Amino acid sequence: IMDRVSVVVPSRTLRIVGPIGEGNFCQVQKVEQPHPKGGKRYAAMKSCHKVEGEIDSQTGRNVSIEMLHEARILAGFTDYTYITMFYGVCYDEPIPKLVMELCPYGSVETYITDKSCHVSVPEKVLMIYDIACGMSHLEDIHCVHRDLATRNCLISVRGVVKIGDFGLTRQERELQSEKTRFNEFKAPVRWMAPECLNRNPVFSNKSDVWAFGMTIYEIFSDGLRPYDDDSEMKVIAKKIRAGITPELPPHCQGESKTPRGAIIAMKLSWAKNPRSRPPFRFLKTRILNFGRRYPSCSPY
Ligand code: ATP
Repeated sequence: IMDRVSVVVPSRTLRIVGPIGEGNFCQVQKVEQPHPKGGKRYAAMKSCHKVEGEIDSQTGRNVSIEMLHEARILAGFTDYTYITMFYGVCYDEPIPKLVMELCPYGSVETYITDKSCHVSVPEKVLMIYDIACGMSHLEDIHCVHRDLATRNCLISVRGVVKIGDFGLTRQERELQSEKTRFNEFKAPVRWMAPECLNRNPVFSNKSDVWAFGMTIYEIFSDGLRPYDDDSEMKVIAKKIRAGITPELPPHCQGESKTPRGAIIAMKLSWAKNPRSRPPFRFLKTRILNFGRRYPSCSPY
């Protein structure tokens, strides 16, 4: 995998500043490293709990290989305006590490659920615009993210929302040949499109579009989990397979809470037939157009 990742960061050049967060399989720390153009910069360093090649006994996953895979995907992007910037891979210790841009304001999930900061409608529109732009880039280069949700969208130093966590991302062509089923232990069922919950799941940019609809829902409901009252089994059985999409919570109905354009974007994203869902490049333009109605909401 690492043949194609050219940026190798020696571990001795990294100084750990402190912890940022911990997922099921990885921890993320703030580090200081030399800036390629001179001076120093802060970065986020992701390391998994397993040494290279070690299999997680509970899930059967080879987590360190998955992280190197994530590094390869990150290194392959050509535009990092709306995607967390890749800095390199630290490969000289038993536990490999991924070094990337530090997003100091954390995830969109944390931000919108924090009751102390009221997020305005224009700000929410800008957030979904940024996410649509990032996803549009993935679509252009034929990458399928497979885990789009507010928890995986990060707020960068300039306030731009960037797509992060590419652990489950695949190239479109890899998905065609990949026989293994999506790891059920980690499946983000509430964000997954109906065609991904079948015996032979079909992931595509269109299933990412479905998850984008769920991400808009999270943002405009101030962080409600999709189908929050139901168990995951119930979500699969009743709602997604039967084509029932989440209802807009009462407090986000009305133009002043959720612009009509955002509601239309959600509905279009949740078309049962994947081919009827619009591409991200269309959604991006649509959001830009309805966003113009909010004077403080122009990305330019
Ligand atoms: P999962 O349980 O989904 O596998 P994970 O182990 O892949 O999670 P992440 O969710 O990617 O780990 O990251 C753990 C924490 O670190 C999260 O709170 C996330 O918001 C934060 N984080 C990840 N990348 C960055 C970054 N570049 N800048 C700032 N914070 C980050």
